[in-house]
Amino acid sequence: MKNINEIRADFPILSRKVNNDMPLVYFDNGATTQKPKCVIDTVSEVYATYNANIHRGVHFLSDMSSEAYENAREKIRSFINAGKKEEVVFTSGTTGSINGLAFSFGERFIKPGDEIIISYLEHHANIVPWQMMCERKGAILRVIPINDAGEIIMAEYLRMLSPKTRLVSVTQVSNVLGTVLPLNEIIAAAHSVNVPVLVDGAQGIQHGIVDVKAMDCDFYVFSGHKIYGPAGIGVLYGKENLLSELPPFQGGGDMVEKVTFEKTTYNVLPFKFEAGTMNYPGAIGLMSALDYISSLGREEIAERENELLSYATERLSAIEGLKIYGNATRKISLISFLLKGIHQYDAGMILDKLGIAVRTGTHCAQPVMDRYGISGTIRASICFYNTKEEIDILTSGIEKVKQMLE
Ligand code: PLP
Repeated sequence: MKNINEIRADFPILSRKVNNDMPLVYFDNGATTQKPKCVIDTVSEVYATYNANIHRGVHFLSDMSSEAYENAREKIRSFINAGKKEEVVFTSGTTGSINGLAFSFGERFIKPGDEIIISYLEHHANIVPWQMMCERKGAILRVIPINDAGEIIMAEYLRMLSPKTRLVSVTQVSNVLGTVLPLNEIIAAAHSVNVPVLVDGAQGIQHGIVDVKAMDCDFYVFSGHKIYGPAGIGVLYGKENLLSELPPFQGGGDMVEKVTFEKTTYNVLPFKFEAGTMNYPGAIGLMSALDYISSLGREEIAERENELLSYATERLSAIEGLKIYGNATRKISLISFLLKGIHQYDAGMILDKLGIAVRTGTHCAQPVMDRYGISGTIRASICFYNTKEEIDILTSGIEKVKQMLE
């Protein structure tokens, strides 16, 4: 792996100053990651040298952009170890993928009284689309509870699985608590009663190796911007037999085979799900991000992030009055915490003045807050380009917050 100075030099934004000359300390990687120069250059190159709409023209530039877009699909296929390119659908992001799937799955498979299982740890993106679908179809949403450490209670999940269950949709990693869910057990139990599983990989794919074949999930979704790629591009992976059975979730150009006013027939996979002009510069930029990640080494990234998590946990735990939420046995590099007697927004604003970017609030996961009886947390989400020195700056920043507000 490159050394940390070389890695940081790959990310132009990391050397900028914020708030009256404070060096930027960026700990909001869970919300979005920064982009390496190769990604920025790739997107810029698309627009500067071969911009043209994909799958539309017979001209030189259109061929070039179509080829690059399809190369990006192949790159994603191999990155997540999907069996076929046809199983990789481009979307606008995790939210777009889940909404699309919830619509199509609902139309094809759900009738009144059917049940969908999610967990207490879900981001709103993996709650609301299912609620909307349940409302439309008269189905019921069941929720796996969590323990105080922030781990799902497997026995409750196993009890919940029933002949009425049509789908299990769970996150790979909690965006609030960092909990890594036991996906192998969750998926095996669902499959033993022939129920498919959707995995929300928005917070998982950037922290280690994802192999959809080994995991045996039926659907896997993620966002490009959380794995060092551009915003506005995401992926919906689905097993071919399931995707083939689902109706499209949007109609328009490119997703059709033949259109008449009487009847329209649909394109083959994956194009059936890609209506209208897709974000091809985003897809091509995402390919560049995945190349970058692979060049650093995904195992090496996970190792470095684990080391940073241990260090941050040790430093933050030593601060009096600081309480960490989420102590799961398996956790990614993210720490949610509160300071006794101090509102999270006040703390976040002072940290910001010191150049430290953290996220404050509910993190789009209101039920997790309700579970702990709190209104929000301060979240420091760490990634491989962060350093122990930055964790020290966060630690002294928190001490300063306490001095000012306690
Ligand atoms: N799921 C999880 C676990 C997330 O953390 C997020 C974003 O933070 C999302 C879904 C939604 O992702 P996006 O806003 O990129 O669609």
